[in-house]
Amino acid sequence: MKITGEMLIGASAVRGTDATLRAFDPARNADLEPAFGGGGAAEVARACELADAAFDDYRHAPLETRAQFLEAIADNIIALGDTLIERAMAESALPKARLEGERARTVGQLRLFASLVREGRWLCATLDSAQPDRKPLPRADLRLQKIPLGPVVVFGASNFPLAFSVAGGDTASAFAAGCPVIVKSHPAHLGTSELVGRAVQKAVADSGLPEGVFSLIVGAGNAIGEALVAHPAVQAIGFTGSRRGGLALVDIAAKRPVPIPVYAEMSSINPVFVLPGALAARGDTLAAGYIDSVTLGVGQFCTNPGLVIGLEDSDLDDFIDNAAAALEKKGVQTMLTAGIASAYADGIKQRDGAAKRIATGAKGETASGARPALYRVSAEEFLARPQLAEEIFGPTSVIVVCRDEDEMIAVARSLEGQLTATLLMEQDDVELARRLLPVLERKVGRILANGFPTGVEVSYAMVHGGPYPATSDSRSTSVGAMAIERFLRPVCYQDLPAALLPEALADDNPLLLWRLRDGQLGPN
Ligand code: NAP
Repeated sequence: MKITGEMLIGASAVRGTDATLRAFDPARNADLEPAFGGGGAAEVARACELADAAFDDYRHAPLETRAQFLEAIADNIIALGDTLIERAMAESALPKARLEGERARTVGQLRLFASLVREGRWLCATLDSAQPDRKPLPRADLRLQKIPLGPVVVFGASNFPLAFSVAGGDTASAFAAGCPVIVKSHPAHLGTSELVGRAVQKAVADSGLPEGVFSLIVGAGNAIGEALVAHPAVQAIGFTGSRRGGLALVDIAAKRPVPIPVYAEMSSINPVFVLPGALAARGDTLAAGYIDSVTLGVGQFCTNPGLVIGLEDSDLDDFIDNAAAALEKKGVQTMLTAGIASAYADGIKQRDGAAKRIATGAKGETASGARPALYRVSAEEFLARPQLAEEIFGPTSVIVVCRDEDEMIAVARSLEGQLTATLLMEQDDVELARRLLPVLERKVGRILANGFPTGVEVSYAMVHGGPYPATSDSRSTSVGAMAIERFLRPVCYQDLPAALLPEALADDNPLLLWRLRDGQLGPN
């Protein structure tokens, strides 16, 4: 499939005339063909109006049609073959195997949402029978189901050009909920976005759905994203990226005449608590695993372990020495964009002024490169310098040395909201872990033991979320089946005649859903 540099607005491919944008190959330090035409207010308005017009037909389409649509997107992405992988490699400098894995995850999550749509539990179909004889007052017939919010705008992330982008988790969960989606193409992977966008556009047409179910907008600078968030037809936002970008969108959404929810995933340093028993039993293996996790994907993961916290003793000293030696063997690698590489370099410069650098990755000359760096501070220093708890996006981490358990708990309490927290522990660490757990539950969306946080499973029980600033709304997740909840709201139908009731709430349960009927959960 050929990349044309056009936007996809409903069923049309449209060349924007407000600006010219080019994708960039960070490894070769060179522009990529073709030039993209950036759109403006007219294209935003057209995409939003089409989405609004498509909403009722799309949400009322049979669940089986919706499920097959999601599966068709997955099939169309696979059919793009190496063209997609090669373009994503050129635009992101990510290796082939990583992008193939990411493609598998992307189609896997589309298929997970297809099965979720068919199963229908997310509708929360609930029936409370009328009680006409109840004293002192009769009870009405009450029935509840969840319905989609309306058109959703999705901002993809630079670091996952497939799994958190055009047909990524936000889009899949919004489609599954029954919402049309307008994607703002990420400037770092314009060509990848167009290819995937065309796969979605084809699935819309082949599924017989209204064209406004999907649009892909390209634009230069923040203005186009701001216009999308402000458009009255848009009912929710999914975003993954910087704290500054996410907060700017939250602000615009809150100031609209009708404010809307923004589900922004922003920044996290993912603390790892390395407890004494684990250090004594396998400190050297843990040090190697930690540094692999810090430098994986040039540290460009929202779940990168940017902070390790341990208790002062000789085992922790050995762990730090081993981690430093492992990091020194890691070389310079190309980051996703020149801008992200320069933000990393600035972050490291500032960190050098606040903490002791104990190891630096091997020297190397690479375009848009990042050289890994490891820091050590005392808990006292960490608590006094809040900037050490801020995310630096890239292959760097800080090790905090605590005098005792109370100080470790104090460090845990001082942290901002996080996507993850990790406990590296043995059986004899259970008591300390038990003290940490309630503190961590208040801070994070996922707590893991004896692993590293990089690597997020797409499944029913996954939570990829957490209190601010990890996200703008800690009640939700952007990965896993529960992500659908963000784009739904409950509606109660009181005493509606059978002819007007939604199928999900009909007496004879024609969709064979599991429903809560008079307090009993079952296929009733
Ligand atoms: P970003 O700069 O926040 O951009 C993400 C998307 O939002 C882009 O499409 C961007 O498009 C748009 N955008 C940003 N600010 C906006 C604003 N004020 N108004 C309207 N639209 C706006 O994030 P990024 O490019 O993915 O990476 C940059 C930094 O984000 C990284 O250095 C890292 O710190 C952080 N990051 C965090 C995560 C995470 O998972 N927590 C993931 C990736 C990146 P335009 O630039 O065209 O407006």
